[in-house]
Amino acid sequence: MKSYRQELTFNTPTRRAYINITPQVNEALKKSGVKEGLVLVNAMHITASVFINDDESGLHNDFEVWLEKLAPEKPHSQYRHNGFEDNADAHLKRQVMGREVVVAITEGKLDLGPWEQIFYGEYDGKRNKRVLIKIIGE
Ligand code: ZN
Repeated sequence: MKSYRQELTFNTPTRRAYINITPQVNEALKKSGVKEGLVLVNAMHITASVFINDDESGLHNDFEVWLEKLAPEKPHSQYRHNGFEDNADAHLKRQVMGREVVVAITEGKLDLGPWEQIFYGEYDGKRNKRVLIKIIGE
């Protein structure tokens, strides 16, 4: 069995951002040489997500509005975690949007559905954050 590990680093200029990382995952898959297997992609921070959905800007705006209703960033005083740092909302947003995705690799390609794209969701940016890509297979 082959295995391949790579990290991606992000430093978004905004506190929240949605970045399509499918090209980077495809690049890693090429380097791995794996033709049949699985790729795991996970956020290495507890205030960011990796998820699969549509690459459509209206939908990304809908995520933003929905997440702000569920876990508004402000006022900071509404969260007990914010006695330590002001990112409680980012922890909650990450929990809803998920930590990782697993995608099948078939004939050397990501076996995604027709509209599926892999995204990095940032909820507490403006600093270096990492994503892990781990590929296993033959
Ligand atoms: Zn925190």
